[in-house]
Amino acid sequence: MSDKPIVLIVDDIPSNIKVLANCLKDHYQIKVATGGSDCLRLAVSDPIPDLILLDIEMPDIGGYEVCQTLQSQPNTQDIPIIFVTARDEDSNEEKGLQMGAVDYITKPVRPSIVLARVNTHVTLKRQRDTLKAIALKDQLTDLYNRYYLLEAAEQRMANAIRHEDPMSLLLMDIDHFKQVNDQHGHLIGDDVLKSLALLLTENCRKEDIAARFGGEEFVILLGHCDQVFAAQKAESIRREVEQLNPKGLSITVSIGVAQFSINDETIERLLDRADRALYQAKEQGRNRVIVAEY
Ligand code: GH3
Ligand code: MG
Ligand code: MG
Ligand code: MG
Repeated sequence: MSDKPIVLIVDDIPSNIKVLANCLKDHYQIKVATGGSDCLRLAVSDPIPDLILLDIEMPDIGGYEVCQTLQSQPNTQDIPIIFVTARDEDSNEEKGLQMGAVDYITKPVRPSIVLARVNTHVTLKRQRDTLKAIALKDQLTDLYNRYYLLEAAEQRMANAIRHEDPMSLLLMDIDHFKQVNDQHGHLIGDDVLKSLALLLTENCRKEDIAARFGGEEFVILLGHCDQVFAAQKAESIRREVEQLNPKGLSITVSIGVAQFSINDETIERLLDRADRALYQAKEQGRNRVIVAEY
């Protein structure tokens, strides 16, 4: 697959699409929609576009409405939109920009201008994506970081309460990890952390959140999951870690499991219960799973 950025061109007139595609095809992967509803569908289907060139006048759903819908959805609100239209009065341009479009191009288009503007906005979009990823991810393991976990957990907990849906958390700590560093050096220690992170990612569903919580501590937040299932999951991870042998080393983890209860008003309290269970697992000899009491 090409790693060229993807531009979605939306216009009800095929010859217009062709003109725009010709401006961009050497540098971009092109997706095409011939109406507003088509655009809304393609904006959320893989591969997700990096930018949308959006016609305003279309028979099914007009460009302004499409723009508003895209802006209101979390999974599409970061896609930059450039309006492309024959209307060239200032008021239309103003309206488009007020709706959150990043730019406005009038037909007939000049190919070099289209390419230059698309280049600018795709570059900005990619820079924003990179910054966002840096802010939310742990650099060593590429798991989510503590900051993201705490933010996301608040939302998940609110949902769990609203839908009376069970939710659980695993807090995991590598056993005697200091010895790994002491005996094999910090770089090998880092490799072990990366291997373990990969194992955790592979064991998560898409809607779970795996995060590096601190040095050699990890958290997995499991939605739609009570403590019985969470304990099974923890036990299965514990066994897989035993078999992992990263860098030829045998490592184990201790895991505290806690199910979110309505009384756990905060993520801090839930984490605290999981931490106490983890402490017990360490006390009882490590390489084991303990489920927290309410
Ligand atoms: P326990 O079984 O009680 O958890 O023992 P432990 O040795 O794992 O616990 P301790 O808290 O004493 O040591 C944790 C070690 O984790 C110490 C620290 O050097 C190491 N560590 C933390 N962050 C990193 C990291 O980013 N890379 C590496 N290589 N080591 C790290
Ligand atoms: Mg049109
Ligand atoms: Mg620790
Ligand atoms: Mg440890």
